[in-house]
Amino acid sequence: MTDIVRYSFPTAVRFGAGARHMLPAVLSEAAVRRPLFVTDRGVAELPWFAELVASVAGDHATATFSGVWGNPVVSQVDAGAVAARTHDADAIVAVGGGAALDVAKAIALMQRHPGHLFDYEDGKPDARPVDQPLPYLVALPTTAGTGSEVGRSAVVSDDATHAKKIIFDPRLLARVVLADPELTLGLPAALTAATGVDALTHLVEAFLARGHHPMCDGIALEGVRLVAEHLEDAVRFAAEGGDPAAHLAARTGMLDASMMGAVAFQKGLGVNHSCAHALSTVCDTHHGRANALMLPTCMRFNLSAVPERFERLAATVGAADGPGFIAWIEALLERVGLAVSLDAEGVPRAALDRLVIVALADGCHPSNPRPVSAQDLRALFTEAFGA
Ligand SMILES: [Zn+2]
Repeated sequence: MTDIVRYSFPTAVRFGAGARHMLPAVLSEAAVRRPLFVTDRGVAELPWFAELVASVAGDHATATFSGVWGNPVVSQVDAGAVAARTHDADAIVAVGGGAALDVAKAIALMQRHPGHLFDYEDGKPDARPVDQPLPYLVALPTTAGTGSEVGRSAVVSDDATHAKKIIFDPRLLARVVLADPELTLGLPAALTAATGVDALTHLVEAFLARGHHPMCDGIALEGVRLVAEHLEDAVRFAAEGGDPAAHLAARTGMLDASMMGAVAFQKGLGVNHSCAHALSTVCDTHHGRANALMLPTCMRFNLSAVPERFERLAATVGAADGPGFIAWIEALLERVGLAVSLDAEGVPRAALDRLVIVALADGCHPSNPRPVSAQDLRALFTEAFGA
């Protein structure tokens, strides 16, 4: 734990290998007594998770809710909120990838608020107010992708319709993030690639998004540089193993990049995320994988709208020009095993109409640098299906 760095941006972050070991001190400093761990089924089985819970069990009354899997849905939040009330939790320790972290944030909200989760949907005209104090939220990410640990929102789907709803409130931001790249060392190659491309998509779409936000732009460009430097290595180490120090360095770079992506997309996202959300809603596609399936197509769509922005992205990754940046993306997807058409992914062509409707209704594309119509979305999905 000698190399843990501390910074406060946009919340208190403790970053570095072994940062998870600071959890007992973090909980004690916050004077909480009854933490509820929220994680997914997979993480709950890992030895380090049991050790993490045991490390605080001496001084705190702990309980664990591990009913999170796949794309997060409301019934998981409901079950978790019951667990939080039953335990009378005064803290939520969220451990996992984007799904577990988002469900944990929603549990923190619903533990102390009445009604249905979607009563609190962002932008809903008659939304209920978030007016009760939330339990103390600590986040430990185990993937380098969504950056949900530094975000103020939770994305949760309706169980029946799979429609994604965004719950946004500044109080959903974790009070402390323990960003420990060691927790990502065991992530399999396919998930390392998919989550890493999600981070890349956040960074690129944020940089291309409409609006004046030079801070997010600067963070986005440096994040893209980190992905260029580390993603391929992280995937290769995940698949083949190798020098532990070099593996940790690659994971560290990707964890930095994913958190930077989530900070950068405060500026906005774009059409790629609208298409990816549609694929997850209609076909239950993994979010990171869904982004990868659309990325070259959506970037070609955007190129003519903001050619100078693509020039700067190109310079960041050592490509010659805007088209060269898109070629760089395609080559990267190829090398990490994600150069896949929608046909090859098994998305049925009969789903096209539905994909267009869901993508058009999505809240991400209004900040895309080029306006997006239903006709455009149809053309984008059609191109992504393949020849
Ligand atoms: Zn994303």
